[in-house]
Amino acid sequence: MISSTEALDLFRSDDLIGIGMAADSLRKKFHPEGIVSYIIDRNINYTNFCTEYCSFCAFYRPMGHPEGYVHDKETIFAKIQETIDLGGTGVLMQGGLHPDLKIEWYEDLLSSIKQRFTIHLHCFSAPEITNIADVSGLTVRDTIARLRDAGLDSIPGGGAEILDDGVRYRISRLKCSTAEWIDVHRTAHALGMRTTATMMFGCGETLEQRMHHLEIVREIQEDTGGFTALSPGPSSAKILRSAASCMKRPPPSNTSRTWRFRASISTTSRTYSPPGSRRGSRPANSACASAATTWAAS
Ligand code: SF4
Repeated sequence: MISSTEALDLFRSDDLIGIGMAADSLRKKFHPEGIVSYIIDRNINYTNFCTEYCSFCAFYRPMGHPEGYVHDKETIFAKIQETIDLGGTGVLMQGGLHPDLKIEWYEDLLSSIKQRFTIHLHCFSAPEITNIADVSGLTVRDTIARLRDAGLDSIPGGGAEILDDGVRYRISRLKCSTAEWIDVHRTAHALGMRTTATMMFGCGETLEQRMHHLEIVREIQEDTGGFTALSPGPSSAKILRSAASCMKRPPPSNTSRTWRFRASISTTSRTYSPPGSRRGSRPANSACASAATTWAAS
């Protein structure tokens, strides 16, 4: 496994092909059978009301806004049925942080889905979990356990952005802290659940802050083996331009540059934090394998 200094060198390198080959050799080491799989799933957003006002977010609507919604169960059922009709086996369901929806609302939704459909439910990112806990007066552990008992199968890594409170304070200061994001995932792993990790790069973070993010993910994986995937994705074009400026690189002003930026993150992440890094462990089949950028090539 490479050190953080070596990973920083990879981030700074222009040898994208070489980094990609190193990442691919690691994938082959963990999965010598040479099979790469994928799933068909669908994102469903149950509400776009949110109280957090993240600076990069074009999705949320403040409470009372005429474009805001909370989908009823029939609407969500119809979307799941469409997914199944197209061969889908999973749903990634996330929403804004609603101040009035208590845990009973989520439990009812999950159990109602499970009564009607055979489908993997990968739902509620760490900020949503901490919000449900706050709104319901519960601990994070009790919140996750109750959601699991109602039908939740795994937890997505959304809301990680960059796991560095300096960055978070600038772009999403009301949302959960780095420590809270870690606590949700460690708690879920302790309860026997699998989760994923994300990374929203291009928020103006430094390479060192990016490495800090990967170190956190790697540490958790070393301890628990509970992550099934790491999905890095770029922030908006406006924030990407700001990031490129910080890193003294040309702005990713077109699709090919953005993809180069993205490939560099993906391959370096895989090389620094390989999926089976916990001694003797192998990742379970990923419930939410997200195309070629996923970390766990299961
Ligand atoms: S918490 Fe999520 S939905 Fe709410 S503003 Fe932030 S990114 Fe948008």
